[in-house]
Amino acid sequence: MNESIRHFINQVKIRNAGESEFLQAVTEVATSIIPFIESEPRYRNSKVLERIVEPERVVIFRVPWLDDQGEIQVNRGFRVQMNSAIGPYKGGLRFHPSVNLGVLKFLAFEQIFKNSLTGLPMGAGKGGADFDPKGKSDNEVMKFCQSFMTELYRHVGADIDIPAGDIGVGGREIGYLFGQYKRIAGAFNGVLTGKGYEWGGSLIRPEATGYGLIYFVEEILKTREDSLVGKKVTISGSGNVAQFAAEKCIEKGARVLTMSDSEGFIYDPSGIDKEKLEFIKELKNHTRGRIKKYATKYHCEYFAGERPWKIKCDIALPNATQNELELSDARTLIKNGVFCVAEGANMPCTPEAVAAFNKAKVYYAPGKAANAGGVAVSGLEMSQNSQRYSWTRTEVDNKLKDIMCEIHQRCLKYGKETDGHINYERGANISGFVKIADSMLAQGVV
Ligand code: GLU
Repeated sequence: MNESIRHFINQVKIRNAGESEFLQAVTEVATSIIPFIESEPRYRNSKVLERIVEPERVVIFRVPWLDDQGEIQVNRGFRVQMNSAIGPYKGGLRFHPSVNLGVLKFLAFEQIFKNSLTGLPMGAGKGGADFDPKGKSDNEVMKFCQSFMTELYRHVGADIDIPAGDIGVGGREIGYLFGQYKRIAGAFNGVLTGKGYEWGGSLIRPEATGYGLIYFVEEILKTREDSLVGKKVTISGSGNVAQFAAEKCIEKGARVLTMSDSEGFIYDPSGIDKEKLEFIKELKNHTRGRIKKYATKYHCEYFAGERPWKIKCDIALPNATQNELELSDARTLIKNGVFCVAEGANMPCTPEAVAAFNKAKVYYAPGKAANAGGVAVSGLEMSQNSQRYSWTRTEVDNKLKDIMCEIHQRCLKYGKETDGHINYERGANISGFVKIADSMLAQGVV
């Protein structure tokens, strides 16, 4: 690490003590961007990097609600409005007990680059609460969402800040949040994305992150004149991203060997097929049960308390959560012959794991590029809302494919190394940064 990178990171550390995930995300970006900035005096002198690590605004608020026993519960709500250089704040809401300011700042920071890479006019934000929807009744989730929006509504708007889903926030939660926004604001507009199709949502939005991830992997494969047919794929997670990544893999002829939840993973050597995936969707989206049930039903192995990285594969797709794939996992994957790791989750690989992949010349696609399909189709939902019009499935899907292909091109622009290897991490960071930096320079000291 060179001296200016070390100095910069130390300054950020002092100002954001204890926010470990945020520091991790900033360190990762700064390490690839600072050498670039040093060769571009206009970015260095205007202190763009120093500015973008400081959120434009953060709102923290109390979320009181009554549970089914009539007892008062109190959670903490947040919205981090990170950067509005290229559009209104845009990014998801996460409801999970691990949510705190540092986690949301890391996610909002990643979102700056991700949204920039999509080529759409979206700034960056992230929000959520330390509320755990797991084990709560629909009624409790609704009460919570209504209370959350009762404060959030004054900070958001279709031209101001447009939240969406993330971990713990899916179609059900977006519905309750939207209903409450509409009552308070007295306006039906595109303030949230991920809405139901009947009331302003976009086709393909539920599928977008998972499908987009696989479209991106296909672009990587094309660089070596290869395809997904017959490839062994391990997937972690079993939520929205994992489900639709698996669906697209199956459609493209790959063999999906694993899926997981917070309690363990299932290993199905014969491959999770369409019908088995339907069982997982029903289990996770409706009965809200544990993945272990799959192993009982389809008589395959279940590994309690473990992650799927010890299973031999060609392609690994970490689709669960941050820091779920560590150095020891990376080493095992490399030893077992993995050639591509693409992140459906945000920052699932630790920095040490990423370094190991890059050293071994494994194609490593960071989340800010590979999982940008979700927010990209959110951007397309915003466009449709503004037009008061809906595009067909094929139209949205084709636009998503084009966007993922363009993101891949943007990564190549700054990511190609002299030996031909593509460093997607550096490519994504620099490409995402340039658009933000140029916009900030054009807008003065903001
Ligand atoms: N939470 C998703 C992400 O990490 C989607 C955000 C959105 O659609 O605004 O990009």
